[in-house]
Amino acid sequence: MRCSFQSFDEIGQLAYAFNDSAQRIGNLITYIEQDRQSLRQAEAMFRELAENSVVGVYIVQDDAFRFVNAKMAEMFDYEPAEMMASVGVLDIVAEDQRQLVTEGIRKRLSGEVQEVHYERQARKKDGSLIDIEVFGSRMRIDGRDATIGIMLDITKRKAAEMSEHLMTLVYQNSSEGMVIADAVGVIVTVNPAFTEITGYQPDEVVGNKLNILNSGRHDQAFYQAMWRAINTIGHWRGEIWNRRKNGEVFVELLTINTAYNEDGTVYRRIGVFSDITDRKHSEAVVWEQANFDFLTRLPNRHMFHDRLQQEITKSHRAALPLALLFLDLDQFKEVNDTLGHAVGDRLLKQAAQRLSSCVRESDTVARLGGDEFTIILSELKDVNVVKRIAQNILEKLTQPFMLEEEEVFISVSIGITLYPDDATEIEDLIKNADQAMYAAKDQGRNQLNYFARSMQEAAQSRRWLVRDLRGALAGDQFCLHYQPIVNLTTGSVDKAEALIRWQHPVRGLISPAEFIPVAEDTGMIIEIGDWVFRQAAQQVALWRSAQHAQFQISINTSAVQFRRGGIVHDEWLGYLRRLGLPGHSIAIEITERLLMDAGTGVTDKLRAFRAAGIQVALDDFGTGYSSMSYLKKFDIDYLKIDQSFVRNLMPGSDDLALCEAIIVMAHKLGMKVIAEGIETEQQRDLLAAAGCDFGQGYLFSRPVAAEQFQAFLKPDFRILSDESQKCALRTRSAAVLKTG
Ligand code: C2E
Ligand code: MG
Ligand code: MG
Repeated sequence: MRCSFQSFDEIGQLAYAFNDSAQRIGNLITYIEQDRQSLRQAEAMFRELAENSVVGVYIVQDDAFRFVNAKMAEMFDYEPAEMMASVGVLDIVAEDQRQLVTEGIRKRLSGEVQEVHYERQARKKDGSLIDIEVFGSRMRIDGRDATIGIMLDITKRKAAEMSEHLMTLVYQNSSEGMVIADAVGVIVTVNPAFTEITGYQPDEVVGNKLNILNSGRHDQAFYQAMWRAINTIGHWRGEIWNRRKNGEVFVELLTINTAYNEDGTVYRRIGVFSDITDRKHSEAVVWEQANFDFLTRLPNRHMFHDRLQQEITKSHRAALPLALLFLDLDQFKEVNDTLGHAVGDRLLKQAAQRLSSCVRESDTVARLGGDEFTIILSELKDVNVVKRIAQNILEKLTQPFMLEEEEVFISVSIGITLYPDDATEIEDLIKNADQAMYAAKDQGRNQLNYFARSMQEAAQSRRWLVRDLRGALAGDQFCLHYQPIVNLTTGSVDKAEALIRWQHPVRGLISPAEFIPVAEDTGMIIEIGDWVFRQAAQQVALWRSAQHAQFQISINTSAVQFRRGGIVHDEWLGYLRRLGLPGHSIAIEITERLLMDAGTGVTDKLRAFRAAGIQVALDDFGTGYSSMSYLKKFDIDYLKIDQSFVRNLMPGSDDLALCEAIIVMAHKLGMKVIAEGIETEQQRDLLAAAGCDFGQGYLFSRPVAAEQFQAFLKPDFRILSDESQKCALRTRSAAVLKTG
């Protein structure tokens, strides 16, 4: 570009010089017109000069070309003779400028002006337009006025000027910062956007080195690499942190290019940049959101996958094992449902902090979602450390959490798998750890558990179970069995416990112990529980109207049914009303676990049931946390002593002492006691003697279908023989005498 400027300048100068000499020649012609001898000489001189000129030369007289040189004719695509013979002056003038030209000629001829110099557009033979520059002056030929002039084709120069003008506009108005520096990096000029972005006025930076903007965020190597690229290939593009005049650091996307001199040396370095700090920031936010858990700030599932892959690679390289821990909080759902989500969130945050405090800085703790966490312990020099860490986590998480001035207790189940022993693929490791965690849950929670192959099979059958369970209700595969609850004093059967049975079309009878936990985990227990309630209600309505007006059926309930979205107790009560049943025709069995975790929702539901006359039995008493305070807090009607105490009952045994204590305590609190799992007469007698009110067990009957159960409902049916009844009464009064 610079080179073309130079050549145009040169042409301009030449034109002026020529104009000067043409004028002198013109004057000469006039002067020597009288001197006929010199005339031929002068004309020869003029022709010589004009014909060899690189600019157009013309003489116009009477609106026609009296003379044009070859260059002039060529500019308009004519032959010189043709142009002189047939082209009028105005023919080579663009229509809209004819007035201007006519006026110019008039002024010259009238002597108003001696010389004119103007730029305009002219028309070529084919009608196309070119830009020309004209220098003209007045002369006399043959005693008459004429104009002589030279003409330059400046079309190219005009185009260059236009493009330069546009370049300037872009430079001045661009929103991208631009800086031009010389070969050694000294700033020559900057555009307004540069000032806008950096805060530096042109006079504050021109003359300074480019590194005036350095932020100090990049090391020496960064700049070296950048300059190496600029010096070798002439350009560089990248993101660079710079510093504004006010000290603020910002990031720009910078492109540096080089303009060279004709000899190949560097003329200018041109830097163009835009401030991408905001974009960077939002990219960082997006990245953060995509990779980190919002609540706990731990890596999320996505990031966890990435890290696990990296750690596997590292461990592989170091030939050291890696452990993957899968953790699931044990009572999180209860906390969430009873104390609300805000408290649940706080618990998760605190749990996340505790987990992080148990591992090394280099290990990864991630939250997969909900109450699921994973931990990657990588490059293990000693695998025993895994167990110690897991144990430490178990202990840390059983410490109470202070949430809204309430102490909340939870625990965690941990599944552990090892790379490369258990698996080498990322998906397999995750699956293993997950299965091991489920096994830990099954073993009673608050456990750590290493992956074993057998778990794969267990997990497989669990998947079958979940799938088939979904169709079981619709497929009418459930039924209820009833087990009599016997009055140990009278031998009468006024109650029964309803126990669900699943007749699987392929696998046969499946025990509730197997499928109820799955139904609880998947939430299907809510629908199943509703079905059980309705089924039992219909049954008790039938028996009460036909055989036993005071009969009561107790149904089992799961904690899940007491959470939000579980039992709609209005519906249950409405159902009883429609069947014409009083509340006390139904008892519900709950577990201690439910009372332990009970929030207001659970308490309200229990109260509403009791207000409607429905009785409440505490099932499996003695296996859980057996806190007496809960018994006092909730109105419980029956305590069911768990079969594990009954199984080993012997005269003088600890279990007998326990049973006796439970019975005395329950009676003091106004509760009746039911003993579960009575299989022998001795157990029955010992319990009866201890004052136990009711008994349930294979000794009396296994759970049976409704039709078989009819036998227990005959009027005056007594399950105890007269003899054993008398015996029971005797031992009982003896016991009362002893304790009394
Ligand atoms: P559970 O409520 O403690 O029920 C007593 C369990 O002990 C029943 O097992 C019963 O068949 C068994 N059993 C009764 N007498 C004896 C005995 O003398 N010896 C022995 N060894 N066992 C005896 P089942 O029917 O297999 O039910 C197991 C558990 O499944 C129940 O324990 C209960 O927690 C749950 N369950 C059963 N039906 C339902 C239901 O409809 N809903 C819910 N949520 N859970 C249910
Ligand atoms: Mg029960
Ligand atoms: Mg039980």
